[in-house]
Formats: sequence, structure tokens, C-alpha cells
Amino acid sequence: MNQMKIEPKRAVVIGAGFGGLALAIRLQAGGTQTTLLEKRDKPGGRAYVYEDQGFTFDAGPTVITDPTAIEELFTVCGKKMSDYVEMLPVTPFYRLCWEDGTFFDYANDQEALDRQIHALNPADVAGYQRFLAYSKAVFDEGYLKLGAVPFLSFRDMINAGPKLARLEAWKSVYSMVSRFVKNEHLRQAFSFHSLLVGGNPFATSSIYTLIHALERRWGVWFPRGGTGALVNGLVRLFQDMGGKLELNAPVARIETVGNLASGVRLEDGRWFPADAVASNADVVHTYANLLSNHGRGSSQGETLRKKRWSNSLFVIYFGLNKHHEQLQHHTVCFGARYKDLITEIFKSDKLADDFSLYLHAPCVTDPSLAPPGCGSHYVLAPVPHLGNAPIDWDVEGPRYRDRIFDYLEKRYMPGLRSQLVTSRIFTPNDFRDELNAHVGSAFSLEPILTQSAWFRPHNRDAELPNLYLVGAGTHPGAGVPGVIGSAKATAGLMLEGVNAGAHAGGLR
Ligand SMILES: Cc1cc2nc3c(=O)[nH]c(=O)nc-3n(C[C@H](O)[C@H](O)[C@H](O)COP(=O)(O)OP(=O)(O)OC[C@H]3O[C@@H](n4cnc5c(N)ncnc54)[C@H](O)[C@@H]3O)c2cc1C
Repeated sequence: MNQMKIEPKRAVVIGAGFGGLALAIRLQAGGTQTTLLEKRDKPGGRAYVYEDQGFTFDAGPTVITDPTAIEELFTVCGKKMSDYVEMLPVTPFYRLCWEDGTFFDYANDQEALDRQIHALNPADVAGYQRFLAYSKAVFDEGYLKLGAVPFLSFRDMINAGPKLARLEAWKSVYSMVSRFVKNEHLRQAFSFHSLLVGGNPFATSSIYTLIHALERRWGVWFPRGGTGALVNGLVRLFQDMGGKLELNAPVARIETVGNLASGVRLEDGRWFPADAVASNADVVHTYANLLSNHGRGSSQGETLRKKRWSNSLFVIYFGLNKHHEQLQHHTVCFGARYKDLITEIFKSDKLADDFSLYLHAPCVTDPSLAPPGCGSHYVLAPVPHLGNAPIDWDVEGPRYRDRIFDYLEKRYMPGLRSQLVTSRIFTPNDFRDELNAHVGSAFSLEPILTQSAWFRPHNRDAELPNLYLVGAGTHPGAGVPGVIGSAKATAGLMLEGVNAGAHAGGLR
């Protein structure tokens, strides 16, 4: 069998989310002429930006962790990140608040942490140290060693098995945290992180406790100008390297010749031939819609539909004519219920009466995101995805917004309603329709152990050797560091090329 590899000269990447952008940059830096095709009028995907009356609203990721993974994208291009975007440290990382008035400022300051933990439960100071040691061990194995390598064969999984077993990866995040700390507030404070990547802390593997160590190691950052400024910096980097970005370019189909992708066809009929195609779009959309002309598309689409999907989100972007100085940049507002609420979010067929919220107040770090003296914000509530709960969001959305505004006004932002200049909502329907997200999921496949690593859709398709995936639906999963890691794994495979034998169909 001919083992000679043909490296792709021209590649197409579908979707300009963080994963698609990072992959396109790596391909372009590796010498592959790359075209990035984005359906919407701006790049960023979930990190889209809305601008209205002088307010700038980052639509999605705001907690930027692992700046080294981002810096590496610039380094592989021979550039410096600081020439493209300025990263500002955020302190505290988050303020966590409960309805009984307790709050906890989670920061990279051991003394301050110990003091706050001691006030809640003295015995948990030592317990926290043991939790941190566990989290660091998982971080070393799960992130540093395996976070950016593709799991293409079951052998890869078996090799990782003993390590995962040693770390008791079958346990949930919450149960692992509970082993170390006893106070319920602290258990919530150290277990909610998996929700940031669509994982239920009561079901997701304890591997996801690594987020805690990751934040402690590299901190929490915010780009000056907002996450959108980071997206723009990456786009500029890609274009400086000679890459081509097409916006308003929805892909209709990935075309094939035999078992090879030959290029992509846009909805407007334009044709982009390619030696390799990578999709950053939702994995069900990629297989069931874009690859519908090939048997693999319908079979894999069906398989993926049956998987467990992450929750959706309800988001309100709002601008106020006042800056609320009492707020921190990131606030988690825990509701009265934790486990039961999360169970309803992941399993129920309706919207719960209560909610827990994440409140973003970026002007704390960068006042330029709103007119002078004003505040730009978003607040989000995790909600069930449309496959579990077919809620009529056209009706429920405005009601839910009002309930959330009432809650915020009462507990966190006095006078909110009278200060309102502008607001807009983004519902599970928008995740489905704007982002082509299956069942409106905000984070793709749920990151449970049986849907992680080799069990997640692979970075290279098993049947079409020059078709690749990148982003939240593939290994390692959602979150900005996750999808940037997936881009590294996928770029490695793409630049390595395809066996010459596979090209026998005569692509070139
Ligand atoms: C509200 C919210 C807050 C979040 N907060 C954080 C956070 O603070 N920190 C963190 O690390 N993570 C956070 N996340 C998760 C993180 O944003 C995502 O996991 C990550 O950005 C997903 O990136 P991706 O590369 O998978 O692509 P996506 O961002 O999903 O982008 C995919 C792109 O593909 C495009 N596309 C789809 N179909 C087509 C088509 N047919 N043709 C062309 N283009 C197409 C879409 O328009 C989109 O631009 C948050 C997510 C949300 C929704």
C-alpha cells in the first residue's frame, strides 16, 4: 500500500468560530492556502458582537482562560499577540453570590481564598488544598497531555484509560468536589465550572475539575475592546498570513468524489474547490445537511442526533445609562436550588420557575464598551435545549426577560429598568437558526465521559479521509481553550496530509 502522503495545497474551513479561526490560522501558517467561509456577517460564531447606540456587547465567551493557547497561534505565524490584541487581567475571577447574602470572591490569591473558605467552614481550608492538588493532577493529564491530541482510534482511548482510572474519571465533578469540601456553598463554588462548557456538574466527568487548576495557573483575562477584539485580532492575523475570509457565505453542501471531499458549494451557488475540507459548524448540521449527498452524512447525522446534547442558554444583552459600581466583571448569581435546578435544565421538558444566572459587566475592566458613565451588560440563564423542552420562545422569551430583569433589579442592580437604554434577547431558537446548532444547544454534545475523547466525533472523519471537524463538537470539546485545542489537533492531522492512495479518485 502506498504510504506517501499528499499535503493539502488548498483547504476550506466552514465557520469562523474560535475553532475555525484557529484552524485556518494554523493551516495558513503551515503553507496551505486556506479559505474561511462564514455564514454570518461577522466572524466569531458564539463570540459574535452586537453594537448599538455606543454599547458593545460580546455575545458569548467573556471568561478568557489559557492565554498561552491563544499566544501560540501568533507564535506559529512568527508574530506577537501583543501587536494584535491587549489582554487585561480580571480580578477577582468571579464573584459568586447566593440568595442568603453569602458571597465568595474567587481569585488567584491563596490568602484571600483561605480567609473566605475559613469563614464558611474552617475544615474546608485543608480540603480545598487537597481538591486543588487533585484538580492539578487532572489538568496535567487531561489538558496539558491530551487536550490537543486527536483521539482517532480506540487504542488512543485505551492508552489513556489507566490514567483516567487513577483519577477516578467516572465520578462526577460535584461528587469529587464533595469528597474534599463539605460546605454546600463551596461545593457549588468549585463545581459550577463545568456549566461553562455545557457540562452538568452532577453528570460530567470529574476530569472537568481541571478548569479550576487551569484558571489558577494562567488566570482569567479579558481583551481590551472585548472578546470581539480578540476575534478581530485573529482575523487580522489570518489575513496577514494570506488567508481569505468570506463573510455572508453560508455553505449549502460539501461535495464529494467517491470517498473524498472535493470542495464546498455555497447557498448562492459559488463553488470552492479544496484538497481538504474542515467544518467548524455544528456536527449534526455538518453531516446531516452539508454532507447529505453522501451516505456517510445521513448515517453519521442519525448517530449524532441520538447523543446527549448540552443545555441551551437564554441571553439578554442590555445597556444602561448608569455604571453599577457595586458589580464585579463576572458574577454568578446562584438561585435557591442547585442540584434540582440543574437536573431540570438538563432533563426537564419545561422551563423551571427559578433560575441561576451569570451576569457580565465588562465596563468594570474596560469602560470603552459603553458611552461615558454607562454600562454594557449581558445576563444568561442555562435553559433546556429544544429537543427536551419545545418551549415557544417567541412567547416565553419576553416573559422570561422580564422575570430576570425583576430579579436583577431586586437583588443586584437597583433601578435597572429605569436605566435601560437598549436590550435584545437570544433564545434557543436563535442558537438553532442563527448558528445551525442542533436542538439549539449552546455547547454541542454534552461532555459526559461516554461522549468525550475517542467517544466524541473525531477530528478526522472515519470514512472521508480529507474531511475534518474542529470546534466544540469534537475533541476536546466546548469552551475557548477547548476549541483552540481542537484546532491544534485537527491542523496536525490536516497538515500531515492524506495517504496518496486515497487520492486515486483523481482529485487533482
Ligand atoms: C453565551 C455563551 C457564553 C460563553 N461563555 C464562555 C466563556 O466565558 N468562556 C469560554 O471559554 N467559553 C464560553 N462559551 C463557550 C464557547 O463560546 C464556545 O464553546 C466556543 O466559542 C465555540 O467555538 P466553535 O469553534 O465550536 O464555533 P462556534 O462559535 O460555534 O462557530 C461556528 C461557526 O460556524 C458558522 N456556521 C454554521 N453553519 C454554517 C454554514 N452552513 N456555512 C458557513 N458557516 C456556518 C456559524 O455561523 C458560526 O460562526 C460560551 C458560549 C456561549 C453561547
